[in-house]
Amino acid sequence: MTSERREVASLDDDELARASERLERATPAERLAFAVDTFGEGLLFTSSFGAQSGVLLHLWSEVARHLPVVFIDTGFLFPETLAYRDAIAERLGLTVRVLRPDIATADFVARWGDDVQRRDPDFCCGLNKVAPLAPLRDAARGWVSGLRRDQSRAREGVRVLAREGHLVRVHPLATLTKADVARYLAEHDLPEHPLVARRYLSIGCAPCTRPIADGEDERAGRWAWTNKTECGLHARAPGDEPR
Ligand code: SF4
Repeated sequence: MTSERREVASLDDDELARASERLERATPAERLAFAVDTFGEGLLFTSSFGAQSGVLLHLWSEVARHLPVVFIDTGFLFPETLAYRDAIAERLGLTVRVLRPDIATADFVARWGDDVQRRDPDFCCGLNKVAPLAPLRDAARGWVSGLRRDQSRAREGVRVLAREGHLVRVHPLATLTKADVARYLAEHDLPEHPLVARRYLSIGCAPCTRPIADGEDERAGRWAWTNKTECGLHARAPGDEPR
């Protein structure tokens, strides 16, 4: 098993799929431990410190507290998110590495307009979210994030391990349900993001997030005026002109 772990980044796609299949039967903590053991310092963990982030942050504090949690401050986040980040990081003893875009938020708005998110959210995500992460992403071998299959139709096919370019994406929570998350947060007495009480069940930047209604997907309140469903970390190259 140890040699399999060391070599996982060089597995071909079929072998990686089989390794992922084996981890289907593991717990989230075991999946995360596998990733830490496999990639060591080459493991990147990004968290939005959003409504669903508490479980993975807690697991990280138990398995990988020696490694930082990377947080992208786009300049458009809710103040409640920044307060939640500080509170839960202190409670769990986490080191948070904050990334920011090269351009100041006021300058970005002055240059592209205060409706740029409405016109072209991929452009805004490209400059304010994708670009700040690029150097760390390029240097990493594994990337942990909290995607779950039951969050939206777009995430139904999320695997525990998946190749993305030179990286292996790791999703320790892939098989958890919304109820599992609620149970875990309660069992560990973890604080809730303050906006959850106002029915924000997936929380990104303020201009692009609304509360959800009964029966909607957890992520239905994100970029609700478009068919965009993901945060833009995989959108077109940052720096292109906006539409
Ligand atoms: S989520 Fe919205 S405000 Fe945030 S970076 Fe993307 S488009 Fe811009």
